[in-house]
Amino acid sequence: MSDVRIDDLPVRDELRGKSPYGAPQLDVPVRLNTNENPYPLPEPLVERIAERVREAARTLNRYPDRDAVELRTRLAEYLTDTSGHEVGVANVWAANGSNEVLQQLLQTFGGPGRTAIGFEPSYSMHALISRGTGTGWISGPRNEDFTIDLAAAEKAIAENQPDVVFITTPNNPTGTAVPPETVLALYEAAQAAKPSMVVVDEAYIEFSHGDSLLPLLQGRPNLVVSRTMSKAFGAAGLRLGYLAAHPAVVDAVQLVRLPYHLSAVTQATALAALEHTGTLLGYVEQLKAERDRLVTELLALGYEVTASDANFVQFGRFEDSHETWRKILDRGVLVRDNGVPGWLRVTAGTPEENDAFLDAVRELKKEQST
Ligand SMILES: *Cc1c(COP(=O)(O)O)cnc(C)c1O
Repeated sequence: MSDVRIDDLPVRDELRGKSPYGAPQLDVPVRLNTNENPYPLPEPLVERIAERVREAARTLNRYPDRDAVELRTRLAEYLTDTSGHEVGVANVWAANGSNEVLQQLLQTFGGPGRTAIGFEPSYSMHALISRGTGTGWISGPRNEDFTIDLAAAEKAIAENQPDVVFITTPNNPTGTAVPPETVLALYEAAQAAKPSMVVVDEAYIEFSHGDSLLPLLQGRPNLVVSRTMSKAFGAAGLRLGYLAAHPAVVDAVQLVRLPYHLSAVTQATALAALEHTGTLLGYVEQLKAERDRLVTELLALGYEVTASDANFVQFGRFEDSHETWRKILDRGVLVRDNGVPGWLRVTAGTPEENDAFLDAVRELKKEQST
């Protein structure tokens, strides 16, 4: 039966000929391509996870808490403590990675006959999850320097009247932060076109020079802020994402979530991690310093760099970015080619990993000048 291919099956038309999402998972000494936190979880936290999971194991014959109330309560406390904006359990919803949160939002507010817009280049999963949920995708514009072109964005919203607007801040893959004034203006534009949901993807907010946009939720029921434990918390393997919004939004996503979607093991592990936010956010400070060092050294080497508020740096420019990606890989360092012409993206790793990366790109410069 190996002669049967995807397109021989009766798959949906919009999936035909498409490729799945996926960064290459290559076995290379230095992997700086998926914006993971390079530091493993601290040993006391590993112990605590084992304890809490053992406890959860004793009741695995039962379904987990469908509403994940304890976890959402702790997440709400974390958001309140770090933003100064009061967030309660009714404002928070959690799922298996923020990708599942985004999927639930699109199943609820997008879907067949509806559209979503994002300002590209941005996180490619916004377009892919739109496609997977049957939501039409509109690619909005950005300026040359990768900031959002407000006038053009407002025009695109007015013309297309999307049902969902994605704003990623700090943006991936460029690292660009979006100022609160711009988010407010886009929210107003979206509501003027027709009532629509504005989703602010703050996957990297803990690494930002600026503050979270959580305070903007006040009085704006059509605004959603999505977050993840995959990046700053150093727990990409856990698969835990969450959102903060008006309680009505949390009620609405209940209509599409699968029953018991968040396993008892996941809830126990995330709860253990939330007991250690102090240590985990300590690593964030180190990574921000390393991010800033990458920017300084890349500029000193004569590369162009996009201002970054995330745990990665977009650098260029290259006539053939894929060729440069390959040359860096030949030197044992895996960075990311996001398909943005002329640019590549490197994740801030440990100081040693970053040194290995900087050595590799220094050699490339030397090679060019000889
Ligand atoms: C990495 C990333 C996420 C995280 O997805 P998870 O499913 O939580 O791992 C979400 N949004 C953006 C912009 C990202 O880069």
